[in-house]
Amino acid sequence: MRCPRCGNEDPKGFYLGGRGWYCRKCVPFSRVLMTDAPKMWEEESTIPDAEYELGFALTPEQEKAAQEILEKTREGKNVLVKAVCGAGKTELVYPVIREGLSAGKKVGFAISRRQVVLQIAGRLAKDFPRLKVIPVCEGFTEDTQGDLIVCTTHQLYRYTGYFDTLILDEPDAFPFKGNPVLQGIAENASKGTMIYLTATPDEWLTEKIQNHKAEEVPLYKRPSGIPLTVPKVNYLPKEGLALALYGYLRTETKAGRYAMVFFPTIRETETFAGIFRRYYRIAVMHSAREDKDAQVRMFQRHEARFLFSTTVMERGVTFSGIDVLVYKADHPVFDYASLVQMTGRVGRDPKNPEGTGIFLCAKKSGEVDKCVSGIMTANRLAFGAENGLTTRKTS
Ligand SMILES: [Zn+2]
Repeated sequence: MRCPRCGNEDPKGFYLGGRGWYCRKCVPFSRVLMTDAPKMWEEESTIPDAEYELGFALTPEQEKAAQEILEKTREGKNVLVKAVCGAGKTELVYPVIREGLSAGKKVGFAISRRQVVLQIAGRLAKDFPRLKVIPVCEGFTEDTQGDLIVCTTHQLYRYTGYFDTLILDEPDAFPFKGNPVLQGIAENASKGTMIYLTATPDEWLTEKIQNHKAEEVPLYKRPSGIPLTVPKVNYLPKEGLALALYGYLRTETKAGRYAMVFFPTIRETETFAGIFRRYYRIAVMHSAREDKDAQVRMFQRHEARFLFSTTVMERGVTFSGIDVLVYKADHPVFDYASLVQMTGRVGRDPKNPEGTGIFLCAKKSGEVDKCVSGIMTANRLAFGAENGLTTRKTS
């Protein structure tokens, strides 16, 4: 037996209920009996005007990547777009969206986190002004049909076999990463091709390349044309970390800079915010905060000089001209992907690309080393040997 929705094949994963067999792995989404006929989707009769309007020109590197993605998708291949943080990966799939929808096909865009769904849906609605762009996520499930569906990976259970091309943004992010049920549901939502977009592919994605189930399209250069910030790693005795943090906050304040400071736990985030709030304006973010939007706005508007946060803010956000510090970067909650993403918050605004990244560590960490060498390799591939080997100097 194989579940048509999540792809589960484990015999222990099925249960015989009063009405027949169903899959236990994806039953939290809704009950699908194995004897149910596959859902039939109506064929779209009207072809929407899927022309897009970008307020800026793509760089030659972006153009080349976008073209490669389009060609591979036309050939029916799955694509892994490996674009460094801030490379502008969303607009790389615009030609695929335009061509697919113009031909009457179904194209979808799925993301792990709800906040990012709303952000991207707003952006796609603006850039594709004649399309009905529908966000589908918690709080937005009344209307689930449109020209272009932008949903959380959780909501894909509604769309088994629906899409001709499904774009999965950041499939290496929580809670999608390492979740076979969500991964199965996502892959079964597309009856055609998949496009995966990420800066930090995990094992699930790299295996697809190794097994020839997807082809890679890399993009190492950001539109700003400036190399990625290579984090400076400071090793200190454990007792010296807090003092180094204090020194950093003071220096940043004197220099008139704004910075995101990442901590491994909610407890440390709150404790240090409590201590330093007496001296500095600090916004605080973690999963347990009720006032998340207000805290982010405070930092965005420069009403706070620092944003203290857990990894909850490691992706998907852009603040102009900031620096980043990771406190205890050697802590096990920070893996390679997380460290690359946090550092990737620096230099995202092409108009204000200066910024520094600092890791405070008490001991050596393989993940930290991998992050530093990974970023240097990306710079080398984008700019040649010289730039990849040195930390970028800030002017
Ligand atoms: Zn299932």
